[in-house]
Amino acid sequence: MSKHVVTLIPGEGTGPEICEAVKRVIDASGVNIKWEYEEIGLDCLDKYGTLLPEKTINSIAKNRVALKGPTTTPVGTGHKSANVTLRKVFDLYSNVRPAVSIPAVRRPWNDINILNFRENTEDTYSAIEHMVSSEVAQCLKVITWPGSFRIADFAFKWARAQGRKKVVCVHKANIMKITDGLFLEAFREAAKAYPEIETGDIIVDNCAMQLVRNPAQFDCLVLPNLYGDIITDLCAGMVGGLGFAPGANIGDSCAIFEAVHGSAPKYAGLNKVNPSAVLSSGIMMLRWLGENTAAVCIERAMQAVLAEGRRVTYDVGGTAGTDEYAGAIIEKMNEQGNGEQWKEQ
Ligand code: NAD
Repeated sequence: MSKHVVTLIPGEGTGPEICEAVKRVIDASGVNIKWEYEEIGLDCLDKYGTLLPEKTINSIAKNRVALKGPTTTPVGTGHKSANVTLRKVFDLYSNVRPAVSIPAVRRPWNDINILNFRENTEDTYSAIEHMVSSEVAQCLKVITWPGSFRIADFAFKWARAQGRKKVVCVHKANIMKITDGLFLEAFREAAKAYPEIETGDIIVDNCAMQLVRNPAQFDCLVLPNLYGDIITDLCAGMVGGLGFAPGANIGDSCAIFEAVHGSAPKYAGLNKVNPSAVLSSGIMMLRWLGENTAAVCIERAMQAVLAEGRRVTYDVGGTAGTDEYAGAIIEKMNEQGNGEQWKEQ
């Protein structure tokens, strides 16, 4: 019998080829996972009349853990984001997006180790928009005290568990005094239960500038949904690009692991893009499942392949395809043994 059952949602665009490569690597680590394939996105609309079929929802509800590829959402017109719906259905209020420098991927910034906690269910992402007149559009920014408090509390809990020293709230409360003011107030209230952790706050535009000037000053950031989306892409660019930025959507009932990046549709079917971000999301998932040895094993092999630089993808100067890069990681894991020597404490 399998030790874990995980819902695997390949997604759209480059998602399926990335997820297949990632599944191969995770399976090769020896971890005992039964994968349940489920669908999401535009194809489902024709087949089931919805972007997010009931079967997919039921599988996630049963297994409580999923690994997901990206989906495609049209810009300006068309259907609403299946992703945003998924986050709402399961109330996945914490979007954890680590940004960590990768020694083998050299960038002007080599000292980034930031844990970003993005609120995942509120803000302008509630997508409550309407036309006020033929020339005026309005979008509501919804910030609630419970929503703000729980993401702050979640961030402090993780920070404490990981021995992090400082948590900073990112906002624009100088202008949006009521909405962002409430987010900041809830953050300060949550902080009271964690007196050993230093706290601070920063205006979002200054945060973007400070990140580029001196990212080492940041440890953990808590952000409302929209700023979180933008700042975490900035962080992704600073550690080597979207190909390296993992994430997790976590709620009280389940966790869905997915990369920061989108479906990169122009590369779909070309076996070209970097699967590292989804693989790193898979590594986060393995740790969530308590499979620390497999997590370390894959992480070391990936770092080694990147350091060699021979079989890496285009975004880091290589010519290897998604498949070949995944194969190189598997070879490296086989060379390195079963990871017993790297067992985490
Ligand atoms: P994108 O992340 O798909 O691509 C942006 C750029 O980053 C592309 O030029 C691509 O070259 C590069 N890139 C992305 N992933 C890469 C990878 N794995 N390896 C190497 N390079 C990579 O963003 P976009 O083009 O703005 O959006 C495309 C679609 O994805 C849109 O429909 C958008 O709504 C959707 N999207 C989905 C998610 C999600 O499902 N979680 C997240 C963001 C965007």
